[in-house]
Amino acid sequence: MAHRVTLLAGDGIGPEVTSAARAVVEATGVTIDWVERDAGRPAIERDGDPLPASVLESIRDTGVALKGPVTTPIGTGFASINVRLRKALDLYASVRPIRSLPGVKTRYGVVDLVIVRENTEGLYSGIENEVVPGVVETLKIVTERACTRIAEFAFALARRDSRRKVSAAHKTSVMPMTDGLFLDRCRRTAARYSDVEYEEVVIDNLCMRLALDPARFDVILLENLYGDIVSDLASGLVGGLGMVPGANIGRDAAVFEAVHGSAPDIAGKNVANPIALILSGVLMLRHLGEYAAAERAMAATLAVLADGRVRTRDLGGSAGTTDVRDAIVARLQTGAG
Ligand code: NAD
Repeated sequence: MAHRVTLLAGDGIGPEVTSAARAVVEATGVTIDWVERDAGRPAIERDGDPLPASVLESIRDTGVALKGPVTTPIGTGFASINVRLRKALDLYASVRPIRSLPGVKTRYGVVDLVIVRENTEGLYSGIENEVVPGVVETLKIVTERACTRIAEFAFALARRDSRRKVSAAHKTSVMPMTDGLFLDRCRRTAARYSDVEYEEVVIDNLCMRLALDPARFDVILLENLYGDIVSDLASGLVGGLGMVPGANIGRDAAVFEAVHGSAPDIAGKNVANPIALILSGVLMLRHLGEYAAAERAMAATLAVLADGRVRTRDLGGSAGTTDVRDAIVARLQTGAG
């Protein structure tokens, strides 16, 4: 049976990396009925809106999307497309596995952690005001409901994936009410998961410890802005933004995308690393219940990385996006993953 999946190529390097991820997903033999929709710059040109209603309708209909990055136009009045998408579909949990990959030289030994980021509120509420000229404010909205469900999500993920510990990040010394509510919900949830170790770490201290010894972390649970920043920091531990996949999960829909953005500086040059979006495709295959295909795609990707001959320039190589795609597809087709 074919799975229906909405495909958003996005803009910048989006079309290049999504086409690579699509080719790898298809090479696993899983049949996907792709529903292609424009988001980002092509959608502004056609519909005057980077996130037209047709995109949301399609994802509501298929329940699953594979998404390339999109540029947020600055100073044009458009709110971040990603924030709008996550809110509109209530994709409340952002999950980013941070894993060292074979053949990718980093400063660290084995890193294997998961970032779970609350995706719908906090400082991303988009409520900013001018109080009086020269004084502006932005509101950090934190609700019991969102804190409870993201904490529940993180602990359930830890239990399901046999992970030993959840570390919750906070800054209660400065924000006792908002971060305090977040921590309170984490604690209550932790009490129901006695098989999973729980700790609380002040966000600045967490960054220092991550840079010193990332292996001490397992699942890191963060509110929205902390999660955004720590995701990029953690990407740097395993080789950069080109390596880290992501999933945005809600009750009724899931959108799979890389942590990186549209990288306008390298767009259209066939130099972008497609691994992050290919691994997002692997997460998507698992979500669709296609576990064997996901493992094959993962194995083929790891084999190409370990082999080391075909890698993009962010990893010290000179191969193009399409070369990486072709090498992984060839491994899948010959069963040499
Ligand atoms: P970025 O992630 O696009 O790029 C940061 C740096 O990393 C750049 O030097 C870029 O060349 C490099 N890089 C990123 N992805 C790479 C890849 N796959 N291979 C090789 N190098 C890669 O971040 P930015 O420049 O801050 O943002 C550019 C645009 O993307 C902005 O408009 C931003 O709002 C948007 N953005 C979108 C998403 C998304 O759609 N999910 C996420 C983050 C940023």
